[in-house]
Amino acid sequence: MSSTLFIQHSQFDQHSVPPSHPESPLRSLAVETRLRQTGLWQDLSIQTCQPVPAHLFKQIHNPGYIDQLYQIAPAKGMILADPDTPLTFNTLGAAEEAAGSGIQAVKQVLSGEFNNAFCAVRPPGHHAEPGKTLGFCFINNIALAAEYALNNSEIKKVLIFDFDVHQANGTIEIFKNRDDVMVISTFQHPFFPFSHWTNLPDNVLSIPIKAQTASTMFRRLIEKKVMEAVSKYKPDMMFLSAGFDAHTNDPMGGLDLIEEDYYWLTQMSMSLAKTYCKGRLVSMMEGGYNLEALALSSHQHIQALSGN
Ligand SMILES: [Zn+2]
Repeated sequence: MSSTLFIQHSQFDQHSVPPSHPESPLRSLAVETRLRQTGLWQDLSIQTCQPVPAHLFKQIHNPGYIDQLYQIAPAKGMILADPDTPLTFNTLGAAEEAAGSGIQAVKQVLSGEFNNAFCAVRPPGHHAEPGKTLGFCFINNIALAAEYALNNSEIKKVLIFDFDVHQANGTIEIFKNRDDVMVISTFQHPFFPFSHWTNLPDNVLSIPIKAQTASTMFRRLIEKKVMEAVSKYKPDMMFLSAGFDAHTNDPMGGLDLIEEDYYWLTQMSMSLAKTYCKGRLVSMMEGGYNLEALALSSHQHIQALSGN
């Protein structure tokens, strides 16, 4: 049995956005293709997502928001749920699988079947607020997974570390002022979504980073702060909102990380999870829009997770 679980959608072309849209089905294909080419695929336990019923979304989102999403979703073609975010005929099915994958991962990591898990799912989730679609995100996948983990009597506190180039506004808004969840967000600043970076609640550690910051400086800026925050909070389980759009070749982000930085980020997180959480770690894909950079970066991330 492998130590790392990899969860993918039941069909490749879920949430089929227009071809020009950066958050495309080609993203998950790029992740998988790289894993197969390098042989790492054989070392992982591969599962397909089990969808969850939409009423579970109401644990973290406003019920009216969820009802409205299902009302406006088109039977064919697409509409724009916000100016950047197409809602297509198969978006909500993909969202049910993406959110379901987090719960599926939590169950199996908590049962001890796997050390950790990566969910290669879309649409991403970390910009989705309790009542708002934003930045390609509808349902906050990582928030639902974290909330689910807290149902387990062994899990009193969870920590979400979001290293996407964009700030985790949705995750912060969902969990603000909770003492059983801590959110750490490293992000380019100033940058989209241009919110949630002043007057933050005590359970949020925000680490804004200037555009064009590269590996050495990035590591220096975040390492001490993240380690101090985790060691002070002492979570029972860790979650990663794994966005790969801080890579220097990403067309959207303006940071200058390289793929090896994702190996480093992952190892640091695993070492903290080992110290405080019996290694329990679930990672879910967020951004990353240059297919080559996404493939290389996610490979580094999963390689570290699998202990290779
Ligand atoms: Zn992003």
